[in-house]
Amino acid sequence: MSTRKVYITQTGRSEIRCLFLMLLLALILPITSVASESEYPRILDHPWDHSPITVYIDNKSVPPHYSPTYYTQVQKALNYWEEGGNRKLEYTPVFEIVDSEKADIRIRWIENLQKDQGAPNGVAGDTIPFVVNGRFVRVDIAFGVGTYQWGEWVPYSDTAMLAIAEHELGHALGLDHSSDKQDIMYPTNEQINNTNPILSKYSSLLLIAAYAFLAIIVFISVNWLLSRKK
Ligand SMILES: [Zn+2]
Repeated sequence: MSTRKVYITQTGRSEIRCLFLMLLLALILPITSVASESEYPRILDHPWDHSPITVYIDNKSVPPHYSPTYYTQVQKALNYWEEGGNRKLEYTPVFEIVDSEKADIRIRWIENLQKDQGAPNGVAGDTIPFVVNGRFVRVDIAFGVGTYQWGEWVPYSDTAMLAIAEHELGHALGLDHSSDKQDIMYPTNEQINNTNPILSKYSSLLLIAAYAFLAIIVFISVNWLLSRKK
């Protein structure tokens, strides 16, 4: 009799496992379909109605931890996009660095983006485009110069600043965030900003975390039910 009972329990167990797998698939499928959007995300296809795009880089009123080498990284980032960047622009931008704050793109450095701009943790750059009649009329870019890690100040390296500058300039040229980790427009911790697109990125990450949490809860309760059956 006892062997027969065990046999029945085993069948019940595999049925529950099967149900659990199906539930997991139902949860995962909508996420993958959202993630595999083929169209490259853009704020605007052609944000600037003129060329060259003028750029003002404020290296006069800089914060205490500013490094003069950061200016060169911004120049390199401008060259990167003039030479095609990540190949996702439908036009070739031409930049002109000017000594006037009336420039199309205005770039400055801020000591602490979290404290001074109210940016979320880990945010290193912040781009604010001003849109009139479907075109950019002005874009303000702010870069941090470093971050506190366990109470210790860690300045951004030139390599980090270059990546941040390339990413933020990508926004200033109309690109939105990419889901491709290899793409410069992928919002990693070093590069993320606090414009609206990043908020939607955060919410989708939160959604995935919630699904994962739910899956773990289901898994634990299924195992608990099975152990009670023993
Ligand atoms: Zn961004």
